[in-house]
Amino acid sequence: MGDLLDSRYAKQILFRPVGEKGQAKISGSEVTIIGLGALGTVSCSHLCRAGVGRLKLVDRDFVEKNNLQRQLLFDEYDAEQRLPKAMAAAKKLIAANSEITIEPLIADVSPGNIETIIKDSDLVIDGTDNLETRFLINDACLKNNIPWIYTAVLGSVGMLMVIVPHQTSCLRCYFDQLPPVGALPNCDTEGVLSMTTGTIASLQCAEALRLLTGFEPTPGLLYLDVWQRQFDNFDLERRQDCPACGEGRYEFLDGSAFSWTNVLCGRNAVQIMPSSEQNIDLKQLETNLKQAGHASFNGFLLSFKTGQHEIVLFPNGRAIIRGTSDEAEARNLYARFIGT
Ligand SMILES: [Zn+2]
Repeated sequence: MGDLLDSRYAKQILFRPVGEKGQAKISGSEVTIIGLGALGTVSCSHLCRAGVGRLKLVDRDFVEKNNLQRQLLFDEYDAEQRLPKAMAAAKKLIAANSEITIEPLIADVSPGNIETIIKDSDLVIDGTDNLETRFLINDACLKNNIPWIYTAVLGSVGMLMVIVPHQTSCLRCYFDQLPPVGALPNCDTEGVLSMTTGTIASLQCAEALRLLTGFEPTPGLLYLDVWQRQFDNFDLERRQDCPACGEGRYEFLDGSAFSWTNVLCGRNAVQIMPSSEQNIDLKQLETNLKQAGHASFNGFLLSFKTGQHEIVLFPNGRAIIRGTSDEAEARNLYARFIGT
Protein backbone atom coordinates (compact mmCIF):
# COMPACT_ATOMS: atom_id res chain seq x y z
CA MET A 1 0.00 0.00 0.00
CA GLY A 2 2.94 2.32 0.75
CA ASP A 3 4.22 1.89 -2.79
CA LEU A 4 0.78 2.52 -4.19
CA LEU A 5 0.34 5.78 -2.31
CA ASP A 6 3.65 7.02 -3.68
CA SER A 7 2.72 6.15 -7.22
CA ARG A 8 1.79 8.76 -9.78
CA TYR A 9 -1.67 7.25 -10.25
CA ALA A 10 -2.46 6.54 -6.58
CA LYS A 11 -5.73 8.46 -6.36
CA GLN A 12 -6.99 7.01 -9.61
CA ILE A 13 -6.12 3.45 -8.53
CA LEU A 14 -7.84 3.97 -5.18
CA PHE A 15 -11.01 4.79 -7.12
CA ARG A 16 -12.40 1.23 -7.10
CA PRO A 17 -13.89 0.99 -10.61
CA VAL A 18 -10.39 1.67 -11.97
CA GLY A 19 -8.15 -0.17 -9.46
CA GLU A 20 -4.77 -1.65 -10.37
CA LYS A 21 -6.25 -3.76 -13.17
CA GLY A 22 -7.94 -0.75 -14.75
CA GLN A 23 -4.77 1.28 -14.44
CA ALA A 24 -2.80 -1.42 -16.26
CA LYS A 25 -5.38 -1.33 -19.06
CA ILE A 26 -5.15 2.47 -19.27
CA SER A 27 -1.35 2.27 -19.43
CA GLY A 28 -1.58 -0.28 -22.22
CA SER A 29 -3.91 1.85 -24.35
CA GLU A 30 -3.42 4.10 -27.33
CA VAL A 31 -5.73 7.08 -27.83
CA THR A 32 -5.83 9.53 -30.72
CA ILE A 33 -7.08 13.06 -30.08
CA ILE A 34 -8.20 14.88 -33.21
CA GLY A 35 -8.27 18.66 -32.73
CA LEU A 36 -6.39 20.49 -29.98
CA GLY A 37 -8.67 23.44 -29.38
CA ALA A 38 -10.73 24.18 -26.29
CA LEU A 39 -11.94 20.57 -26.01
CA GLY A 40 -8.81 18.76 -27.13
CA THR A 41 -6.39 20.65 -24.87
CA VAL A 42 -8.41 19.70 -21.80
CA SER A 43 -8.96 16.11 -22.95
CA CYS A 44 -5.32 15.43 -23.79
CA SER A 45 -4.22 16.85 -20.45
CA HIS A 46 -6.63 14.55 -18.54
CA LEU A 47 -5.63 11.48 -20.54
CA CYS A 48 -1.92 12.23 -20.25
CA ARG A 49 -2.16 12.62 -16.49
CA ALA A 50 -4.38 9.53 -16.24
CA GLY A 51 -1.52 7.56 -17.80
CA VAL A 52 -2.81 6.52 -21.23
CA GLY A 53 0.28 4.75 -22.56
CA ARG A 54 0.35 6.28 -25.99
CA LEU A 55 -1.30 9.54 -26.99
CA LYS A 56 -1.45 10.75 -30.56
CA LEU A 57 -2.15 14.49 -30.86
CA VAL A 58 -3.45 15.65 -34.21
CA ASP A 59 -4.05 19.28 -35.12
CA ARG A 60 -3.69 21.39 -38.26
CA ASP A 61 -3.42 24.82 -36.69
CA PHE A 62 -1.11 27.10 -34.70
CA VAL A 63 -1.71 28.93 -31.40
CA GLU A 64 -3.17 32.46 -31.51
CA LYS A 65 -3.83 34.95 -28.75
CA ASN A 66 -7.60 34.61 -29.02
CA ASN A 67 -7.24 30.87 -28.20
CA LEU A 68 -5.91 31.49 -24.70
CA GLN A 69 -9.31 32.23 -23.13
CA ARG A 70 -10.31 28.56 -23.41
CA GLN A 71 -7.44 26.42 -24.76
CA LEU A 72 -6.08 25.63 -21.34
CA LEU A 73 -2.72 24.08 -22.28
CA PHE A 74 -1.38 27.09 -24.17
CA ASP A 75 0.25 30.34 -23.03
CA GLU A 76 1.32 33.70 -24.44
CA TYR A 77 4.71 32.40 -25.54
CA ASP A 78 3.04 29.72 -27.71
CA ALA A 79 0.87 32.40 -29.31
CA GLU A 80 3.77 34.84 -29.87
CA GLN A 81 5.82 32.08 -31.48
CA ARG A 82 2.75 30.84 -33.38
CA LEU A 83 3.68 27.29 -32.48
CA PRO A 84 1.71 24.51 -34.07
CA LYS A 85 -0.82 23.34 -31.49
CA ALA A 86 0.34 19.73 -31.74
CA MET A 87 3.94 20.71 -30.87
CA ALA A 88 2.99 23.18 -28.13
CA ALA A 89 0.65 20.63 -26.53
CA ALA A 90 3.22 17.82 -26.74
CA LYS A 91 5.82 19.94 -24.95
CA LYS A 92 3.44 20.67 -22.05
CA LEU A 93 2.27 17.06 -21.78
CA ILE A 94 5.79 15.61 -21.77
CA ALA A 95 6.56 17.95 -18.85
CA ALA A 96 3.45 16.66 -17.04
CA ASN A 97 4.09 12.94 -17.64
CA SER A 98 7.38 11.69 -19.07
CA GLU A 99 6.39 8.04 -18.56
CA ILE A 100 4.03 7.83 -21.52
CA THR A 101 4.58 8.16 -25.26
CA ILE A 102 3.31 11.33 -26.91
CA GLU A 103 3.18 11.57 -30.64
CA PRO A 104 2.35 15.02 -32.07
CA LEU A 105 1.19 15.25 -35.66
CA ILE A 106 0.73 18.54 -37.52
CA ALA A 107 -1.96 17.47 -39.94
CA ASP A 108 -5.50 18.05 -41.05
CA VAL A 109 -7.38 14.77 -41.02
CA SER A 110 -8.71 13.96 -44.45
CA PRO A 111 -10.20 10.95 -46.19
CA GLY A 112 -6.67 10.20 -47.44
CA ASN A 113 -4.92 10.02 -44.06
CA ILE A 114 -7.43 9.36 -41.28
CA GLU A 115 -7.35 5.56 -41.40
CA THR A 116 -3.55 5.52 -41.15
CA ILE A 117 -3.66 7.98 -38.25
CA ILE A 118 -6.19 6.04 -36.16
CA LYS A 119 -5.41 2.46 -37.14
CA ASP A 120 -3.69 1.37 -33.88
CA SER A 121 -5.95 3.38 -31.59
CA ASP A 122 -8.18 1.85 -28.94
CA LEU A 123 -10.23 5.04 -28.88
CA VAL A 124 -10.57 8.30 -30.82
CA ILE A 125 -11.38 11.56 -29.06
CA ASP A 126 -13.24 14.21 -31.06
CA GLY A 127 -11.88 17.68 -30.39
CA THR A 128 -12.86 19.11 -33.76
CA ASP A 129 -14.96 22.16 -34.51
CA ASN A 130 -16.94 21.11 -37.54
CA LEU A 131 -19.52 18.51 -38.47
CA GLU A 132 -17.83 17.54 -41.72
CA THR A 133 -14.72 16.25 -39.92
CA ARG A 134 -16.87 14.53 -37.30
CA PHE A 135 -18.69 12.61 -40.03
CA LEU A 136 -15.29 11.62 -41.41
CA ILE A 137 -14.23 10.37 -37.96
CA ASN A 138 -17.56 8.52 -37.67
CA ASP A 139 -17.00 6.72 -40.98
CA ALA A 140 -13.35 5.87 -40.29
CA CYS A 141 -14.11 4.58 -36.78
CA LEU A 142 -17.08 2.48 -37.90
CA LYS A 143 -15.07 0.95 -40.72
CA ASN A 144 -12.09 0.17 -38.46
CA ASN A 145 -14.21 -0.83 -35.46
CA ILE A 146 -12.75 1.80 -33.11
CA PRO A 147 -14.92 3.54 -30.48
CA TRP A 148 -14.97 7.33 -30.52
CA ILE A 149 -16.49 10.07 -28.38
CA TYR A 150 -18.34 12.91 -30.06
CA THR A 151 -18.50 16.34 -28.45
CA ALA A 152 -19.86 19.71 -29.57
CA VAL A 153 -20.10 23.06 -27.84
CA LEU A 154 -21.65 26.46 -28.43
CA GLY A 155 -21.96 29.30 -25.95
CA SER A 156 -22.88 27.68 -22.64
CA VAL A 157 -24.26 24.50 -24.24
CA GLY A 158 -22.41 21.26 -24.80
CA MET A 159 -23.24 17.78 -26.13
CA LEU A 160 -21.56 14.43 -25.76
CA MET A 161 -22.15 10.97 -27.18
CA VAL A 162 -20.11 7.76 -26.98
CA ILE A 163 -20.10 5.79 -30.21
CA VAL A 164 -19.13 2.13 -30.11
CA PRO A 165 -19.28 0.79 -33.67
CA HIS A 166 -22.21 -1.50 -34.41
CA GLN A 167 -23.29 -1.44 -30.76
CA THR A 168 -24.54 2.11 -30.05
CA SER A 169 -26.12 4.54 -32.48
CA CYS A 170 -23.60 6.47 -34.58
CA LEU A 171 -23.39 10.16 -35.43
CA ARG A 172 -25.28 9.70 -38.68
CA CYS A 173 -28.14 7.91 -36.95
CA TYR A 174 -28.57 11.20 -35.20
CA PHE A 175 -27.69 13.72 -37.91
CA ASP A 176 -28.75 12.20 -41.19
CA GLN A 177 -26.64 14.44 -43.34
CA LEU A 178 -24.71 17.67 -43.29
CA PRO A 179 -26.90 20.70 -42.73
CA PRO A 180 -26.37 23.38 -45.38
CA VAL A 181 -23.46 25.75 -44.72
CA GLY A 182 -24.64 28.64 -42.57
CA ALA A 183 -27.63 26.74 -41.22
CA LEU A 184 -25.99 25.96 -37.90
CA PRO A 185 -24.96 28.62 -35.41
CA ASN A 186 -21.23 28.50 -34.71
CA CYS A 187 -18.70 29.69 -32.16
CA ASP A 188 -17.74 32.65 -34.31
CA THR A 189 -21.17 34.16 -34.07
CA GLU A 190 -22.30 32.77 -30.71
CA GLY A 191 -19.03 32.56 -28.78
CA VAL A 192 -18.19 29.88 -26.24
CA LEU A 193 -17.31 29.73 -22.55
CA SER A 194 -14.24 27.84 -21.40
CA MET A 195 -16.43 26.33 -18.67
CA THR A 196 -18.57 24.68 -21.33
CA THR A 197 -15.61 23.19 -23.17
CA GLY A 198 -13.85 22.24 -19.93
CA THR A 199 -16.91 20.44 -18.56
CA ILE A 200 -17.66 18.59 -21.76
CA ALA A 201 -14.00 17.58 -22.23
CA SER A 202 -13.87 16.29 -18.65
CA LEU A 203 -17.01 14.21 -19.14
CA GLN A 204 -15.56 12.96 -22.41
CA CYS A 205 -12.47 11.72 -20.56
CA ALA A 206 -14.55 10.03 -17.84
CA GLU A 207 -16.25 8.11 -20.66
CA ALA A 208 -12.81 7.42 -22.15
CA LEU A 209 -11.63 5.82 -18.87
CA ARG A 210 -14.84 3.76 -18.70
CA LEU A 211 -14.20 2.33 -22.16
CA LEU A 212 -10.47 1.79 -21.67
CA THR A 213 -11.06 -0.07 -18.39
CA GLY A 214 -13.72 -2.31 -19.92
CA PHE A 215 -16.97 -0.72 -18.76
CA GLU A 216 -19.98 -0.30 -20.99
CA PRO A 217 -20.40 3.17 -22.55
CA THR A 218 -23.01 5.42 -20.95
CA PRO A 219 -25.92 5.40 -23.41
CA GLY A 220 -27.61 8.36 -25.05
CA LEU A 221 -26.80 11.94 -25.92
CA LEU A 222 -25.85 14.20 -23.04
CA TYR A 223 -26.95 17.82 -23.31
CA LEU A 224 -25.83 20.38 -20.74
CA ASP A 225 -25.99 24.11 -20.24
CA VAL A 226 -23.40 25.43 -17.77
CA TRP A 227 -25.09 28.85 -17.56
CA GLN A 228 -28.54 27.50 -16.72
CA ARG A 229 -27.03 24.58 -14.79
CA GLN A 230 -29.11 22.12 -16.74
CA PHE A 231 -28.23 18.52 -17.61
CA ASP A 232 -30.33 16.21 -19.79
CA ASN A 233 -29.73 12.81 -21.31
CA PHE A 234 -31.60 11.76 -24.44
CA ASP A 235 -32.08 8.17 -25.51
CA LEU A 236 -30.95 7.47 -29.02
CA GLU A 237 -31.97 4.53 -31.18
CA ARG A 238 -29.82 2.94 -33.84
CA ARG A 239 -31.42 3.56 -37.20
CA GLN A 240 -31.64 0.51 -39.47
CA ASP A 241 -31.55 2.84 -42.48
CA CYS A 242 -28.55 4.83 -41.24
CA PRO A 243 -26.25 5.21 -44.27
CA ALA A 244 -23.11 4.63 -42.18
CA CYS A 245 -23.79 2.04 -39.45
CA GLY A 246 -26.93 0.57 -41.05
CA GLU A 247 -25.97 0.28 -44.71
CA GLY A 248 -22.18 0.47 -44.48
CA ARG A 249 -21.85 3.42 -46.86
CA TYR A 250 -18.94 5.60 -45.73
CA GLU A 251 -19.64 8.62 -47.89
CA PHE A 252 -17.33 10.98 -46.01
CA LEU A 253 -14.43 8.54 -45.95
CA ASP A 254 -14.67 7.65 -49.63
CA GLY A 255 -14.56 11.37 -50.38
CA SER A 256 -17.89 11.60 -52.16
CA ALA A 257 -19.28 14.01 -49.56
CA PHE A 258 -16.10 15.87 -48.66
CA SER A 259 -14.47 19.05 -49.96
CA TRP A 260 -10.98 20.27 -49.19
CA THR A 261 -10.95 23.99 -49.71
CA ASN A 262 -12.84 25.23 -46.72
CA VAL A 263 -13.73 28.53 -45.17
CA LEU A 264 -12.62 28.41 -41.54
CA CYS A 265 -15.50 29.05 -39.25
CA GLY A 266 -15.65 32.74 -38.16
CA ARG A 267 -11.97 33.46 -38.72
CA ASN A 268 -12.08 35.32 -42.03
CA ALA A 269 -9.75 32.67 -43.37
CA VAL A 270 -9.72 29.90 -45.96
CA GLN A 271 -7.77 26.66 -45.80
CA ILE A 272 -6.32 25.16 -48.96
CA MET A 273 -5.10 21.58 -49.28
CA PRO A 274 -3.13 20.72 -52.41
CA SER A 275 -4.36 17.65 -54.25
CA SER A 276 -1.14 15.79 -53.40
CA GLU A 277 1.23 16.03 -50.44
CA GLN A 278 4.18 18.36 -51.07
CA ASN A 279 7.51 18.67 -49.33
CA ILE A 280 8.26 22.38 -49.55
CA ASP A 281 11.58 23.87 -48.46
CA LEU A 282 10.05 26.67 -46.37
CA LYS A 283 13.45 28.18 -45.52
CA GLN A 284 14.19 28.67 -49.22
CA LEU A 285 10.69 29.97 -49.89
CA GLU A 286 11.08 32.48 -47.04
CA THR A 287 14.15 33.92 -48.81
CA ASN A 288 12.26 34.16 -52.11
CA LEU A 289 9.13 35.70 -50.61
CA LYS A 290 11.06 38.39 -48.72
CA GLN A 291 11.25 40.21 -52.07
CA ALA A 292 7.46 40.47 -52.19
CA GLY A 293 6.42 41.15 -48.61
CA HIS A 294 7.05 40.18 -45.00
CA ALA A 295 8.01 36.51 -44.69
CA SER A 296 9.06 34.60 -41.60
CA PHE A 297 9.71 30.89 -40.95
CA ASN A 298 9.59 29.61 -37.35
CA GLY A 299 10.86 26.09 -37.99
CA PHE A 300 7.35 24.65 -38.47
CA LEU A 301 5.44 27.06 -40.67
CA LEU A 302 6.00 30.02 -42.93
CA SER A 303 4.05 33.24 -42.57
CA PHE A 304 3.89 35.62 -45.50
CA LYS A 305 2.07 38.95 -45.29
CA THR A 306 1.02 40.92 -48.32
CA GLY A 307 -1.45 43.79 -48.15
CA GLN A 308 -4.29 42.82 -45.79
CA HIS A 309 -3.67 39.11 -46.39
CA GLU A 310 -1.49 36.59 -44.66
CA ILE A 311 -0.59 33.18 -46.00
CA VAL A 312 0.40 30.61 -43.39
CA LEU A 313 2.03 27.67 -45.13
CA PHE A 314 2.96 24.20 -43.85
CA PRO A 315 5.67 22.01 -45.45
CA ASN A 316 3.10 19.61 -46.94
CA GLY A 317 1.62 22.44 -48.99
CA ARG A 318 -1.43 23.10 -46.85
CA ALA A 319 -2.09 26.80 -46.32
CA ILE A 320 -4.36 29.00 -44.30
CA ILE A 321 -5.10 32.26 -46.11
CA ARG A 322 -6.17 34.93 -43.65
CA GLY A 323 -7.95 38.17 -44.41
CA THR A 324 -10.49 36.66 -46.77
CA SER A 325 -13.41 34.26 -46.66
CA ASP A 326 -13.60 34.09 -50.44
CA GLU A 327 -12.31 30.72 -51.67
CA ALA A 328 -11.54 31.97 -55.17
CA GLU A 329 -9.51 34.90 -53.86
CA ALA A 330 -7.64 32.54 -51.52
CA ARG A 331 -6.82 30.13 -54.34
CA ASN A 332 -5.61 33.09 -56.37
CA LEU A 333 -3.24 34.26 -53.63
CA TYR A 334 -1.95 30.71 -53.20
CA ALA A 335 -1.26 30.34 -56.91
CA ARG A 336 0.46 33.72 -57.06
CA PHE A 337 2.83 33.34 -54.13
CA ILE A 338 3.17 29.63 -53.43
CA GLY A 339 2.59 28.11 -56.85
CA THR A 340 0.10 25.73 -58.34
ZN1 LIG B 1 -25.69 5.07 -37.62
